[in-house]
Amino acid sequence: MLPNQRVQRTHSRVTSRAKGARAAPRGAPLTRSVDRTDRGMNNPDERRCVYCGAGEPLTQDYVPPKCLFPEPRPSRLITVTSCLRCNLDSSTHDEYLRTMLAMRADLSGNPAVLSIRQKAVRSFERPSQAKFRDAFNRSMKRVLLYGPDGAPVVDHQTYGVSLDRICWVVARTTAGLHATLKGTLSPADTHHVGANLATEVDFERNEVLAWGRAQLFKAPEITIAPGVYSYRVAGVSFDPNCTVWWHTFYSAVEFVALVMPKQVEAPVPRAG
Ligand SMILES: [Zn+2]
Repeated sequence: MLPNQRVQRTHSRVTSRAKGARAAPRGAPLTRSVDRTDRGMNNPDERRCVYCGAGEPLTQDYVPPKCLFPEPRPSRLITVTSCLRCNLDSSTHDEYLRTMLAMRADLSGNPAVLSIRQKAVRSFERPSQAKFRDAFNRSMKRVLLYGPDGAPVVDHQTYGVSLDRICWVVARTTAGLHATLKGTLSPADTHHVGANLATEVDFERNEVLAWGRAQLFKAPEITIAPGVYSYRVAGVSFDPNCTVWWHTFYSAVEFVALVMPKQVEAPVPRAG
């Protein structure tokens, strides 16, 4: 039987990374999860990277990452223009998200997950993945759940998941989709992109999120591949640079994401 996931929260507060910083997020706090400069941001086109505004060499980047879709892949996957560096920076994180989702025991009934699980396991066993494998194995823990009488009722094996890392990929996906929807990116000096697992967000305690969720569930669900990925999006009347997103992976794992002014801190990962 597969172990269960255990979310690891490594952040403690809302922070923004330095403007123009490019380092990929290993455990770093991720509010502004996609670092961008202002170059070309008001008029992105196919000659510029949607994430950082850089020019050649350019590639096509899939949002969400292509590796999440089992083969044969649908023809309607969404791509954006990305510089080679941004594309390469994200690839290990894309694979991390895939592995973390593919290993979830609760998704075993989904044929798409079984298909990507085989790939994820093969990739996991590669010699180049030795470090990741060690870290994964070290994150394994036994967790006992107790009943009301204090007796243990469930004995789980769990593995640790970096919430920051998986949310970074989802925020990056959000930035790419926002760009395709709007034909422009929000200005990086005033707006940020944040994402979190929906189960980690306390909607009742945040007016913006409660409002956003209500808007999203009036919006149609757009399915890119059934059982693999779908999203909902809502705009914000007072600011054309803002969007609210609900991403659903494998019909079960849901993330909420915002492209919002920096004063709006949600839905960044909260302290555990
Ligand atoms: Zn770039």
